[in-house]
Amino acid sequence: MDGTEVKYDVLIIGGGVTGSAIAWALSRYDLSICLIDKESDLCEGTSKANSGIIHAGYDPVPGTLKALLNVMGNKIIHDIADQLSIDFIGNGALVAAFSDSEARGLETLLQRGKDNGVPSPVILSRDEVLAKERNIGSDVKAALYLPSSGIVCPFSLTYALAENAVSNGVAIRLAEKVIGMTEHDGIFHIATDKNMIEARCVINAAGVYADSIHNMVCDESFSIMPRRGEYVLLDKVCSSIVSSTIFQMPTARGKGVLVTPTAHGNILCGPDSTEIRDREDTSTDSGTLAYVMESALKSVPSIDFRKIITSFAGLRAHPSSDDFIIGMARPGFIDVAGIESPGLSSAPAIGKMVSEIAVDYLKARRKSHVIEERKAIPKLRDLSYEERDRLISADPRYGNIICRCEEISEGEIVDAIRRGATTLDGVKRRVRAGMGRCQGGFCTPRVMAIISRETGIGMDAVCKNGKGSEVLSCEMS
Ligand SMILES: Cc1cc2nc3c(=O)[nH]c(=O)nc-3n(C[C@H](O)[C@H](O)[C@H](O)COP(=O)(O)OP(=O)(O)OC[C@H]3O[C@@H](n4cnc5c(N)ncnc54)[C@H](O)[C@@H]3O)c2cc1C
Repeated sequence: MDGTEVKYDVLIIGGGVTGSAIAWALSRYDLSICLIDKESDLCEGTSKANSGIIHAGYDPVPGTLKALLNVMGNKIIHDIADQLSIDFIGNGALVAAFSDSEARGLETLLQRGKDNGVPSPVILSRDEVLAKERNIGSDVKAALYLPSSGIVCPFSLTYALAENAVSNGVAIRLAEKVIGMTEHDGIFHIATDKNMIEARCVINAAGVYADSIHNMVCDESFSIMPRRGEYVLLDKVCSSIVSSTIFQMPTARGKGVLVTPTAHGNILCGPDSTEIRDREDTSTDSGTLAYVMESALKSVPSIDFRKIITSFAGLRAHPSSDDFIIGMARPGFIDVAGIESPGLSSAPAIGKMVSEIAVDYLKARRKSHVIEERKAIPKLRDLSYEERDRLISADPRYGNIICRCEEISEGEIVDAIRRGATTLDGVKRRVRAGMGRCQGGFCTPRVMAIISRETGIGMDAVCKNGKGSEVLSCEMS
């Protein structure tokens, strides 16, 4: 395809959770749609590194797009989780107050939650909080309980939306960067580092680069300032320490450091919030991680930080305005920018809102037949012995365990590759091989060998996450 000119009704720039949700919602309409990302896989930007909370919606200022779309998105995720096999658990959240003044602030948060339409928020007394979460700091005074809050695997959410979009006809182009754009007579001419693309409508969901994409065809009207958040992740042996997500009182910089189970049973602590200039800088540093751990201990004093298995950081796309920027910036060009938290929670609602804007502009019709379901890759570790036996009899590769920490079989890794994984990270994020206690120390060479065999590339060409991240410096003899 390199060097050719291709035409679509809609080009979505950005394959994070926002672009994937827009593709999912738009795929219900009779349109030729393409989603493009500069990276070698989907979910390589902010969508891969966040808290994974499907927020209830107690924090955004009423009347903002964040408030509206957070509460709508939370409801949609509850509705579609089973249908799209998304790894989601409705575990509820507590916003804990550890002083009398913080406890007085809970009333404001409760009212804000009610104004935003959050279902059934309630303030719990100290005893009620301790009965729910016995490891929470004993100086807790009270907490706001949010039963609709949940935890999601952000990769699972993004891949599920994108895979369903592909089942309904959306094309995906990876490792292809948009580098320029012009518009003539209602047609956008998009230059990538490989091709020229034409589209009647362009949707800008480029995360921390959304201002650069906007400025290609529109007057400068906003800027994105990345804010980094760092985390530590604990081994699953700590999983019983909390069952709800424990927030502290929010500040002007965000919702503060949380302690939460993840959708796969680890414990996550973080994030901080640090303004940075480099839009690729997801490094962590010991001083910030020490701050994260100290803050987490205020909520749950018995966390055993000797059980940390990894640390990571994500970049919030903080806009110069404080709200999501969603709308037609010029005829046919739609911005979906400044999608910081609660962007994950809001994604399906953003998808629906943006698809309505595009459909109205393009006068598109709904398709008569849509595939609503998406099946996940089978998870051997969650199956009964009888179910495992059936799977292994049909394909013995499900009986060959490759990742011992997470109990991931060769069959699941092959499934991940068939669904588009071409790198170690692509496999890891689809089936969790390498996500466990040893962080890939045992399974990495075995996963590399399977990628090499299934995709027909040499071992020396197998990458961690795209060109330039080859794991080996030469072919092994
Ligand atoms: C520390 C932290 C914690 C968070 N916690 C939560 C939470 O618990 N709950 C919640 O709801 N939200 C949370 N969020 C927010 C949430 O993660 C984001 O709102 C969401 O992931 C944004 O997704 P996106 O698709 O807009 O951006 P991204 O995931 O960054 O996707 C943008 C994509 O655009 C691509 N791109 C950029 N430029 C180009 C180009 N020129 N050509 C082609 N492709 C391009 C990038 O490669 C990238 O894949 C958190 C964010 C952070 C940083």
